Amino acid sequence: MNAYAQRLGEDTLAIFLFHGVTRPHGCAVRNYTRKHIEPDFFASILRALKAAGGRPVSMQEVLDHVDSGTALPPRAFAITFDDGFHNNLDVAAPILAEEGIPATFYVTTDFVDRNRMGWIDRIEFAVEQHPTGCLRLPWGDWEFSGDAARRALLSDIRTRVKSDAGVDADALATAIQVQLGLEPTFSSDHLLDRKLNWEDVGRLAAGPGFIVAGHSHTHRILEYLDDESLEAEIATSIELLAQQAGIRSPHYSYPEGQPYCYSNRVIDVLAHHGVRCSPSAIDGINAAGTSPFHLRRVMVT
Ligand SMILES: [Zn+2]
Repeated sequence: MNAYAQRLGEDTLAIFLFHGVTRPHGCAVRNYTRKHIEPDFFASILRALKAAGGRPVSMQEVLDHVDSGTALPPRAFAITFDDGFHNNLDVAAPILAEEGIPATFYVTTDFVDRNRMGWIDRIEFAVEQHPTGCLRLPWGDWEFSGDAARRALLSDIRTRVKSDAGVDADALATAIQVQLGLEPTFSSDHLLDRKLNWEDVGRLAAGPGFIVAGHSHTHRILEYLDDESLEAEIATSIELLAQQAGIRSPHYSYPEGQPYCYSNRVIDVLAHHGVRCSPSAIDGINAAGTSPFHLRRVMVT
């Protein structure tokens, strides 16, 4: 049985977390974490879930069942996407529609508003262009030559940045781009970078059983922000979705979604803005009665 289908259970909810589904992108190093998967692989997972008796539910149905206190169908699963990549609309959405499976797309509003790239995508974009080089990083110098060394470098950067609230990830991305002799890149239409624009968001939200909701404004880790910045980050994302796409949703997801990325302080601000359901990215499936602010997800790579 497909490894993802094995996460289904008789009285549990499995929420799958995707980022992108893309056609061949021609990069030697980028996407080594498989943040974007192939369309055939995506379709095969959806079919395997259905073949294993999986019952697709939307995140709104998840919330409705919480409200009514009734059980979800056995072997329930939900499909979610984070970040707002354009390929969610032009590659993933038609496959979901063909399979008759609802999905929720959590979008980062500054990425949508300006076709912005996240810090790690900016760094991957720069490193992809340099087979060999040397970087001066805050934790030491790093020489690299070849694809394996570049992947090791990127893994090291990921680990260091995500574990240290003191590192300004966007400043680091700019420093790396400059050290590699590049103009700082904040926007790209490459297959691995292009984001939904506001018109795309409207088209996606009109899809069959599709929900579009917030995933912060700039993708900073919410728990690392002071109270004022936290309020601004969440309020801006909620207001832009309403103003630009007419979307007012009780759904949201936390950037990065690990245990250190959110807290009751973050949940209180989200709740104040009308959010009632925000899954994490902590690996796991969900027993009946799990708080909609602490639902776990299974990342698909
Ligand atoms: Zn994200």
